[in-house]
Amino acid sequence: MTSYVFDPRPPVAVAIEGSNERFPVHRIYCVGRNYAEHAREMGSDPHRETPVFFMKPADAIVESGAPVPYPPRTSNFHHEIELVVALNGGGRNIPVDRALNYVFGYAVGNDFTRRDLQQASRAAGLPWDTGKAFDRSAGIGAIRPVSAGHVTAGRIWLSVNGRPRQEADVSELIWSVPEVIAELSTLFELVAGDLIYTGTPAGVGALRKGDRVEGGIDGIGLITNLIE
Ligand code: MN
Repeated sequence: MTSYVFDPRPPVAVAIEGSNERFPVHRIYCVGRNYAEHAREMGSDPHRETPVFFMKPADAIVESGAPVPYPPRTSNFHHEIELVVALNGGGRNIPVDRALNYVFGYAVGNDFTRRDLQQASRAAGLPWDTGKAFDRSAGIGAIRPVSAGHVTAGRIWLSVNGRPRQEADVSELIWSVPEVIAELSTLFELVAGDLIYTGTPAGVGALRKGDRVEGGIDGIGLITNLIE
């Protein structure tokens, strides 16, 4: 039996709708600029290039209902409502027509972003980690298993203190869920426990201490967090 110099941290896990079992998280992959209107608001051309991928650490997970502390070193902390795909298998070089076989379920996520740090990194051609991969930056609601069906369409929305900020339909994704899985699997070996944040629609904006941020995707679920 392996002995450790100190106790390893417990596995990061996410609630599953209708189950007492939890989904153990391996890696968190994210897609940038996957809705045309959001690509435009970020100053990019929304034509279909290779998807932009970045990552967050697994322990950035913050579940729906948990408080989100306003993060340090930013004055432009943003919400990004997203469809999240949870994998129960994977591999390398997965064909598009087999990609959905590895989907365990779907959740509503919030890709919390220190926009000022991300934009400074982008402008300097530097990595996005400080803008994207910080503590408690990966909001997520309960995972809805695929037994309820796969997701190709549905209203995706976010409001702050009850006021609408983002609204679109997941059918507007530039890169579909199977295409994202297939492309990602050419870069990384995907495994059970991986989460993929598939990108946010237009309407991203700033959050302040005391804000209640809520969002959802029709047929999948809800996410709500208080910014503290
Ligand atoms: Mn995002």
